[in-house]
Amino acid sequence: MNDGLLPDRGLTPADQVFLRRHNLAMVLRDLRDAGPRSRARIAADTGLNKATVSSLVAELAELGLVRDGDVERVGGVGRPGQTVEIDGRVCGLGAEINVDYVAVLVLDLRGEQVLYERTPLDVPRLGVEKTLDELAAAIAAAAGRARELGHDIAGITVGIPGMVETAPGVLRHAPNVGWREVRVADELATRFGGPGIPIRVDNDANLSALAEYTMGASAGTPDLVYVTGETGVGGGVISDGVLLRGTEGYGGEIGHMPIGDPAHPCGCGKLGCWETSVGLAALLREVADPADSVTDPSVDLEVRLTEIRRRASLGDGRTLRGLQAVGTSLGLGAAILVNLFNPRVIALGGYFAVLGEFLLPAMEAELDKRVVAPARGGCRIELSALGFTAACRGGAHVALEAVLTDPASVTLSAADAAADAAAVRASGQNRGSTEPADPIPSQLPGGMA
Ligand SMILES: [Zn+2]
Repeated sequence: MNDGLLPDRGLTPADQVFLRRHNLAMVLRDLRDAGPRSRARIAADTGLNKATVSSLVAELAELGLVRDGDVERVGGVGRPGQTVEIDGRVCGLGAEINVDYVAVLVLDLRGEQVLYERTPLDVPRLGVEKTLDELAAAIAAAAGRARELGHDIAGITVGIPGMVETAPGVLRHAPNVGWREVRVADELATRFGGPGIPIRVDNDANLSALAEYTMGASAGTPDLVYVTGETGVGGGVISDGVLLRGTEGYGGEIGHMPIGDPAHPCGCGKLGCWETSVGLAALLREVADPADSVTDPSVDLEVRLTEIRRRASLGDGRTLRGLQAVGTSLGLGAAILVNLFNPRVIALGGYFAVLGEFLLPAMEAELDKRVVAPARGGCRIELSALGFTAACRGGAHVALEAVLTDPASVTLSAADAAADAAAVRASGQNRGSTEPADPIPSQLPGGMA
């Protein structure tokens, strides 16, 4: 048994640093995936020797990533061993900018949700600067609240419904919020007083697909297409366990497949995109008149969807006909995705999940008509249980993946400093006082919390 992948002799200092980081990551992932265990079991799992494991565990503990757990007694025989477990202190923060809200979710390294907060906001009207001020304030408040609960934020990922160049964190175009060429990562870093916490930016549906793949009802399904219905219709394609991004990273813009009614203009400036037939605006157009309260954007979306569900449950003719029309259009686009990618699962998120039971009959009938492969190529439709938290969850997951990949990169003191700076700046800019930012109201949802 040796210390890792490379032979012990002839290593340059750079090799040794690489090897140490690789081994730290291997031990941390073992604990995350397999649960608390003794150093001896970690050694058995990873192929590292026990002395190396002890030293790696000590370093991970110093980084705040693992801690001592219970005493392990395997079948009551042999010497009991002190277990090591993931320390839930380190968290990832996922944030989302959407058409009518911003949201923040904190997830700890064990995968448990620490907090989630959604703030209704008219983002297209508010514009770039003020929306980013609001988001920075929401992130700072969440970081402050998380710290009160004993957690530290190791990274931030922001999801946006648009085309994102992920490496520099630049949004190229988000049609439904009307933004172009926004350096989101830099803008937020500036609001936090300079570089500190790593900030990443990605397309919201990509993040939602990752959340579904890692934490949803279909977790671990290697061929999965996630389709979310909001103002826009986004998608993320996981093929053989990998998120397909395309050459420039702009793949997955399924809402703009030109299969909608050519009379309807899309937010992207073209006519007849799929989302003009199945996006939230299309649903509302089908089920209600413009004066109806369910079309009022100042009312929280979940409240409006609950009302539409209620009407459908009572058998309201217009509501049911509207849902059937949307379901048929949903099936048309889904059939293209199934023919292209042969997924095991199409996971429906956003409002599609909330109203799924009323959309599915028409959608599945259309799929059966259009998919070439027998029995839809083994594809089943699932309603995502992640609700409107999916993009934030995926964002928090991405931030935590960076920690799992390179545990030594965790710089919690810098994160603390940035959170402090953000809290001070946010309270000064947006709240008109020098008081520290208020903690998030105690909306600690159940579920994973
Ligand atoms: Zn379009």
